[in-house]
Amino acid sequence: MSGLIERYRDELPFASADPVVSLGEGSTPLVEAPTLSERVGARVWLKLEGANPTGSFKDRGMTCAVSAAVREGAEAIICASTGNTAASAAAYAARAGLRGAVIVPEGRIATGKLAQALMHGARVVALRGSFDEALALVRELVQLHPIALVNSVNAFRLEGQKTAAFEILDELGELDALCVPVGNAGNVTAYWKGFRERGSAPRMFGFQAAGSAPLVHGARVAHPETVATAIRIGNPARWEEAMGAFTASRGAVRAVSDEQILDAYRFLASREGVFCEPASAASVAGLLAHGPGDARSVACVLTGHGLKDPQTALDQAGAVVPCEPELLAVERAVMDEATAPAARAG
Ligand SMILES: *Cc1c(COP(=O)(O)O)cnc(C)c1O
Repeated sequence: MSGLIERYRDELPFASADPVVSLGEGSTPLVEAPTLSERVGARVWLKLEGANPTGSFKDRGMTCAVSAAVREGAEAIICASTGNTAASAAAYAARAGLRGAVIVPEGRIATGKLAQALMHGARVVALRGSFDEALALVRELVQLHPIALVNSVNAFRLEGQKTAAFEILDELGELDALCVPVGNAGNVTAYWKGFRERGSAPRMFGFQAAGSAPLVHGARVAHPETVATAIRIGNPARWEEAMGAFTASRGAVRAVSDEQILDAYRFLASREGVFCEPASAASVAGLLAHGPGDARSVACVLTGHGLKDPQTALDQAGAVVPCEPELLAVERAVMDEATAPAARAG
């Protein structure tokens, strides 16, 4: 499978002779969600961005940002991250033979993402502060040193991420509405750019976690809180562009509670067979809470894989059934309704 720069080179700022750093990202599955469709009364598709090489959509932006950094002769890249940008940057830096450094908020990064960044050999710096502070600090640092900043303030990130909109249009022809989780607001900005470049204008519905909803309230959040760590951001870097996308598309940005996020998270895993991370489920939580409006076709972006955050999954899931190594005991353990793990999703 070729990567997205190859697939969409005509629509990206890369010439045929430019270096390409790719792990075969993009071309992710767009699967119908029959149970969800029935529940909301519209045809709903799930864009499985967890199927990217490092398990999140961040790889779309990273192939472009790192390829451009190599083209410019950079020797190192850096980012602030709630986790997935760090995992992706670390992988693409390793692939390109660049040094990578990632700054994450201490104790607030999901286990899988931390393991990835460390395994890929990045220098992982745990900041005793928030993501927003980390981003402000790396923006200062790159003024002083020749290090490429690969956060979504980097325009190449958005170029890569807009290809997800291309893929949806290539597959469905047209779309009425897109539901997407919003943190730093780079992804919703990129989708809107991609749709516009193709002459399409689906409604953009963005969802923030209630405890980290600066765009909804129109004010920065000093101490953002949510179980959805990937969108635990109080001062989005792409604030104005994202608000422009919501307005121009006649969409909206809304808040969903952690409870609604976790309900959607369990629902997707137990009823649609799709395991995403909590932040990703905000898109579906929002659709379930607010409905599709007049949209008849809706795509929900599931931004990252559920395996990223095994601890939240185990906290939310049913218990395992202990059993002695005897047929009767196994029979009882397998068949008995009373011992079956409770399905918590409705
Ligand atoms: C980065 C990320 C988001 C938020 O995307 P933004 O571009 O920051 O708005 C949502 N979900 C997951 C899993 C992410 O990694």
